[in-house]
Amino acid sequence: MNKKIPTKIYLNEEEMPRYWYNLRADMKEKHDPFLHPATLKPCTAEDLYPVFCKELVKQELNQTNPYIEIPEGIREFYEMYRPSPLVRAYFLEKALGTPAEIYYKFEGNNTSGSHKLNSAVAQAYYAKKEGLTSLTTETGAGQWGTALSMACAFYGLDLSVYMVKVSSEQKPHRKEVMRTYGAKVIPSPSTTTEAGRKILAEHPDTGGSLGCAISEAIEVALGTPNCRYVLGSVLDHVALHQSVIGLESKIAMDKYGIAPDIVIGCAGGGSNLAGLIAPFMGERIKGKNNIRFIAVEPASCPSLTRGKYVYDFGDTGRTTPLIRMYTLGCGFMPSANHAGGLRYHGMSPIISKLYHDGYLEARAVEQTSVFAAAETFARTEGILPAPESSHAIRVAIDEALKCKESGEKKVILFGLTGTGYFDMTAYKAFNDKKMSDYIPTDEDLEQGFASILDIPQNK
Ligand SMILES: *Cc1c(COP(=O)(O)O)cnc(C)c1O
Repeated sequence: MNKKIPTKIYLNEEEMPRYWYNLRADMKEKHDPFLHPATLKPCTAEDLYPVFCKELVKQELNQTNPYIEIPEGIREFYEMYRPSPLVRAYFLEKALGTPAEIYYKFEGNNTSGSHKLNSAVAQAYYAKKEGLTSLTTETGAGQWGTALSMACAFYGLDLSVYMVKVSSEQKPHRKEVMRTYGAKVIPSPSTTTEAGRKILAEHPDTGGSLGCAISEAIEVALGTPNCRYVLGSVLDHVALHQSVIGLESKIAMDKYGIAPDIVIGCAGGGSNLAGLIAPFMGERIKGKNNIRFIAVEPASCPSLTRGKYVYDFGDTGRTTPLIRMYTLGCGFMPSANHAGGLRYHGMSPIISKLYHDGYLEARAVEQTSVFAAAETFARTEGILPAPESSHAIRVAIDEALKCKESGEKKVILFGLTGTGYFDMTAYKAFNDKKMSDYIPTDEDLEQGFASILDIPQNK
């Protein structure tokens, strides 16, 4: 093979980013502030301190500093598994017969199997620095819980993970990984919290949801001394930490004079997408490029493509501040049939705002086509992708096939957020041809929308 560009582009330690990039500081219009659910006034830092670590609250509310230094204690951890490689998908290109160049940034090279570790490390570091002794969180598919378990083990913090019940049943081995790192794992909804007991009383057979697990984790954090709650997606400080993905990608591409025409990421709560696009979007906002950005979500949980841009709670138990975002309603329960992650009812406020202002496109894809893309990718590029990541693969392949038709030689970059070793139940359903697609009807979605607050801000 005649290659001008190596299959894998790595960075030297000196080339690694020393600052995170706070895209929000460069956005011309900022997203709306969080509102306190009782007063409907913008949340202050003091409102957030009881739930979140102080430094993370400061980052959350920072819309002025574009660059925030990555503390040395975090960079040292990053150096154990970063940089992540930027890979040219030569074999996928060949199999598709496309003139497009396809690159992916692979975040699955750590035990958590995903990009989640980038923020988990940062959050645990700041918690330790503040003198906290324990953290609580929720996890859906398990990657976030695993990442945070690794970070808490490293910095010496206790951790309780509320894991969505269906996932804990589908992925018993995930739980053992977390326990190995010292975390306590509780299937949610559980009887250990008020929020969990309430949901169980109303829906005794529920398989749980992220929104519900969040309510449980927050309740425990509020009731435990020296404990805080941490979240693995959605919030701006998580997007900030994930900017390391986009920064490394851009440094690697700049090194070889590559400029993407299309950047694609899967979107659950929006953190990897926000991180991947951050430096490219910053330049786009300043008029320095004309990149197309595409968010990919499951057709069964279509918050961007079919949701409403309103103030909503981040959790089912209605305990979080109100967030203006694209949402299916905090009462939305994803179909049990849906196997591929990305089941959160809402979306990052940064991603929501960019989408609302036309900087970002969104596409919803069905799970059988996502797994078909995963299969093609595994057979050509070798990596067994996470179902979440495969949403991005689906659209990268679709865009590359469009180039084949038009003869255009576009440069496509997508985020390969993780590996799918723990998703064998879903892969089995696909391999056995027992996987089906589920697209909620408008009436189905109305049930979730009914849970959205009727407040003047939402008129
Ligand atoms: C959590 C996760 C996602 C989705 O989360 P975002 O916050 O939307 O990035 C995507 N891929 C993998 C592998 C994940 O673990």
